[in-house]
Amino acid sequence: SGHLSLDVRVAALSGSRVLVLADDRTAARRLDEVRRDFVANVSHELKTPVGAIALLAETIGDAAGDPDAVRRFSEQMGRESRRLSELVQDIIDLSRLQEPDALLNSAAVDLDAVVAESVDRARVEARARDVGIAVGGRQGLKVFGDHALLVTALRNLLDNALRYSDRGTRVSIGVDTADDGMVEIAVVDQGVGISADELPRVFERFYRIDPARSRETGGTGLGLSIVKHVAADHGGEVRVWSTPGRGSTFTLRIPVADRPPGEGPGDEPPD
Ligand code: ADP
Repeated sequence: SGHLSLDVRVAALSGSRVLVLADDRTAARRLDEVRRDFVANVSHELKTPVGAIALLAETIGDAAGDPDAVRRFSEQMGRESRRLSELVQDIIDLSRLQEPDALLNSAAVDLDAVVAESVDRARVEARARDVGIAVGGRQGLKVFGDHALLVTALRNLLDNALRYSDRGTRVSIGVDTADDGMVEIAVVDQGVGISADELPRVFERFYRIDPARSRETGGTGLGLSIVKHVAADHGGEVRVWSTPGRGSTFTLRIPVADRPPGEGPGDEPPD
């Protein structure tokens, strides 16, 4: 491309400074690898439900004389189809989030509305799983970003909290502000928890601690990686604490703001 741009990182190391230089090509190669891995994973994940649906269609044809079997197989086909569409939706969400203009529709977002909408949509699932939902904390906070993406992120955290909880337990959502100017939306469950060595891996695409359980409870393995991208696109992050057997807390942290970064209150016309 003619120009050579450098990705320069400086790390302070016990008084001395270490300069790390990596050129475009290294970064490009790494990106290429990530993309290739993703495509390989996506194909693998899509083949499973598609293969199952094809097999079930064939089996239904053979079972035409047995109404019970036909009903069973068609229910299974329905489940696999829902799984397939969930997977496709997550893949679309994730690829949109990786576009440079993912936050094109940014505006001041009312967090109360984000929380209310996410909880509303999770109610049916919560009732089916006999898990309670409690909402508390500060109200009236605003962040600058994309309302729909924030709902998607919170929905994913809530879905997981419900999915990995036992019946009769409770999931709580708490909103608060931190000293560093971030708003924190914590989703706390009393579920199965995550061990310390699995914790860093749960944000990886398609990573599932227990694939068998996930197959049973639903989920694509992309939920947390979507949450991570939504947080990053908003200048924030996701944090997690967990104790196996006791439960987990996922915290979505986004800068408190009602205007784009860099536009201070001074930019407002005087009234
Ligand atoms: P999935 O769609 O399978 O839930 P995620 O990316 O959302 O995928 O999560 C990755 C894995 O992290 C899950 O398969 C599960 O093993 C673990 N996990 C996520 N959230 C929780 C939670 N609240 N409690 C326990 N385990 C969780």
